[in-house]
Amino acid sequence: LWRETLEQLEQKLSPQLFSTWIKPIEFIRVEKSNVFLRVPNRFFLDWIRDNYVRKIEETLADVGAVEYKVEFEVSSRPRQQENSPAKNSEQTKKESFTPAPQAASAKPAAENWNTNLNPKYIFTDFVSGSSNQFAHAAAMAVANNPATTYNPLFIYGGVGLGKTHLVNAIGNAILKKNSSMRVCYYTSEKFMNELINSLRYARMDEFRNKFRSMDVLLIDDVQFIAGKERTQEEFFHTFNALYESHKQIVVTSDKFPKEIPGLEERLRSRFEWGLIADIQPPDVETKQAILKMKAEKNRINLPEEVIQFLSNSITSNVRELEGFLIRLGAYASLTSTPITLDLAREVLKDILVEKNKEITVEEIQKVVAQHFSLKVADLKSPKRLKALVLPRQIAMYLSRQLTSQSFPEIGDKFGGKDHSTIIHAIKKVEKLMEDDFQLRTTVGNLKNALSR
Ligand code: ADP
Ligand code: MG
Repeated sequence: LWRETLEQLEQKLSPQLFSTWIKPIEFIRVEKSNVFLRVPNRFFLDWIRDNYVRKIEETLADVGAVEYKVEFEVSSRPRQQENSPAKNSEQTKKESFTPAPQAASAKPAAENWNTNLNPKYIFTDFVSGSSNQFAHAAAMAVANNPATTYNPLFIYGGVGLGKTHLVNAIGNAILKKNSSMRVCYYTSEKFMNELINSLRYARMDEFRNKFRSMDVLLIDDVQFIAGKERTQEEFFHTFNALYESHKQIVVTSDKFPKEIPGLEERLRSRFEWGLIADIQPPDVETKQAILKMKAEKNRINLPEEVIQFLSNSITSNVRELEGFLIRLGAYASLTSTPITLDLAREVLKDILVEKNKEITVEEIQKVVAQHFSLKVADLKSPKRLKALVLPRQIAMYLSRQLTSQSFPEIGDKFGGKDHSTIIHAIKKVEKLMEDDFQLRTTVGNLKNALSR
């Protein structure tokens, strides 16, 4: 009976789900119209109860055991290895599993849960402006109603634009409302390191149980797992398990899913299931608001004209902007002088000179080629391949925007193209950007990267 049921279940479920959740179940006996099954641990039991009991009973009915109920026992011994449940029935007591110290098979209690969150990053300290309001609103919606609004939420934007801040704010807000939620923040690198350690010390059960028992998983800078096969594989299964049980997933990246080279297609498509929200470099007003807020928080007395100066003259990277403010504040306090426009000019002189150095066409080509995983030679070549044309046009567009070179000069540096080709490329990119927000972001990020 059980064998037939298994065969049927194997047909109904994906191989991954089948081997993770069904195969480890051990058949004990049938008594009256109860089918007794043994599962490896408490966590497993909860999961099966929430997700698979109906399916198992339906399948039992299909193979003749109509109206049979399944009853579970939890093995008292932690599983030695994946998919090889404890065989010794002497050691089996009904639902009396106590986790061994290292087994961590039961759900960790919320109070012992390490969230990895940075308590400093909260919504009230995040300045919303036109450049980030979409991502900000989406993050608030997710924080107010986890797993019911946008799942997954994918936030992308350039360096220092507030992704880490926002994703932590989501976690902190959820916990504030409901401290029993299991919220966890991970950079994709930390995820990978933990995975590697779990593999090395044969603790994959523990790893999986941990990630699969989360209510909210926040993964920062997911682009780093691109090209890492095993990590992507495991993340994919974690994602599926959480998604299937209606848990919230938030992912950040410095690129749009389609533009992350080396990211598996199946992960890419999952990231696109939910909402993709972008953060653009802040405009002048947002920069001013951020500076005002940060100055107040750090008790730095910042005159209006210095705010104007800072927000007009430099970087769009908020982290850098903050760095300038702190530096200025420290200088003023150490020398006991008030912050004035002259002082700001003086203190930031070196940085500003560096910043205002003219960008070259060669630098642009290098950065664009790198972004699209192409060679600089491809950008200069006459090849009309689809994958080359747009990056090449973007590079031409940026060359015109960011340097003072003429059309023929730019043409020369792109392998001797005539000036009409350059003009056409620029018009083309401008036209495309009008209604393609992804392209707008890409170009914005490239510009940002180049002016750093
Ligand atoms: P990212 O993860 O996108 O590289 P971070 O979230 O680390 O950027 O942000 C860099 C710094 O800038 C942080 O100190 C963060 O608090 C600050 N920051 C970024 N955007 C904002 C904003 N809109 N309001 C207030 N602070 C911001
Ligand atoms: Mg970050």
